[in-house]
Amino acid sequence: MLQTQALADNLYMLYDGMVRQFLLTAPDKALLLDTGFAGSQVLEAVRGLTDAPVQVLLTHGDPDHAGGLEEFAEAWLHEKDWHLVHGSTRLHPLREGDTFTCGDYRLEVIEIPGHTYGSVAFADWDKGMLFAGDSVQKEGPIYLFGAHRNLGLYIQSQEKLAQMAHRFRIVYPCHHTCPVIPDYIAKNLEDARALRAGTLTGQPTPGMPCLTYQGQWTAFFCTEEDRLRP
Ligand SMILES: [Zn+2]
Repeated sequence: MLQTQALADNLYMLYDGMVRQFLLTAPDKALLLDTGFAGSQVLEAVRGLTDAPVQVLLTHGDPDHAGGLEEFAEAWLHEKDWHLVHGSTRLHPLREGDTFTCGDYRLEVIEIPGHTYGSVAFADWDKGMLFAGDSVQKEGPIYLFGAHRNLGLYIQSQEKLAQMAHRFRIVYPCHHTCPVIPDYIAKNLEDARALRAGTLTGQPTPGMPCLTYQGQWTAFFCTEEDRLRP
């Protein structure tokens, strides 16, 4: 069962203890950022908060974010993550600079490939809010292992976000501490650069086919092969 919590005017968090979705509401429409795990009954939780038509935007295609997609007829997801999702939901592309409004919220898409190739963040510039999926986190682990992730791109995307960080006052991560201050963009970047440079030591991760690299602020799930991949 998803817990729901108001974060700001017309902004709600839906949370199962593992992963969060965010819901923006207005009288005429709602925007749902991510759908959670399959079976988490996200639509039921949404309907507890609004009767308005819901438009689904996905930060990326991992199963803890797109698993609940089946409950919706259509959704918006960056094309590079389309291969990660299955089922009959009709997909529309998300691209850099696309905007979505809901009441006085106006979200702009920022492409931030790395955690997945199709990862995006949603920025509300007027409100100083950033919804960054899994790409900005306080504790982590941030998943960066396997063929559909790329550490080099992740570092480039964090550099891109770091250039904008002064325009944000609050970041809403999907895992662990939420919200966090925008400083975690630069902190994640510094730790990711240390991971790339080989100054973090990988420790075995119980039950996972990867190593845990503990940075100063954030941990990463990665492998030596993934760490060095161009
Ligand atoms: Zn996730």
